[in-house]
Amino acid sequence: MGKVFKIFGAALERMNAYLQEHDGRYSAIREKVLEQACMLPQPFTAEHLENACQSDGVSTGTIYNCLQLFLDAQIIHATKRQKGHQATEYELITGNSIRMQRICQKCGRTTNFRSPAIDYIIREQKTQSFFMQHYTLLLYGECRKCKMLELKAQKKAKA
Ligand SMILES: [Zn+2]
Repeated sequence: MGKVFKIFGAALERMNAYLQEHDGRYSAIREKVLEQACMLPQPFTAEHLENACQSDGVSTGTIYNCLQLFLDAQIIHATKRQKGHQATEYELITGNSIRMQRICQKCGRTTNFRSPAIDYIIREQKTQSFFMQHYTLLLYGECRKCKMLELKAQKKAKA
């Protein structure tokens, strides 16, 4: 139970941070659904989650809304569909193991970003000979501020 509690705590923190960034409102139902998702054997389907939330009277629509929110917030990811399995299966992403950063080569400023699409593709790279635990993705380029300064300098030089 201790482990589940820790996972739920981390997932809840991530959900709240995501909602704060995206003007989402707090809702007790989302928290309830998240708690159930953390307690389910992994991976799980929407139906498993709905059954687990039945006693709380959560509608199917809410279950799907919550799943989309959890995906967007990178709390869960959709696993590769098993042969013969119809339903999409979801799995909790545990630990703060994902790191995606944009690095400005001029000023060194780094900003974190998240991309569920990239994450999905990377997690699909499973092989029998390698078990990924975490990864880092670094994008090198120029930040907006540096780019603007550069454009300004170019204009000045021309004038
Ligand atoms: Zn910069």
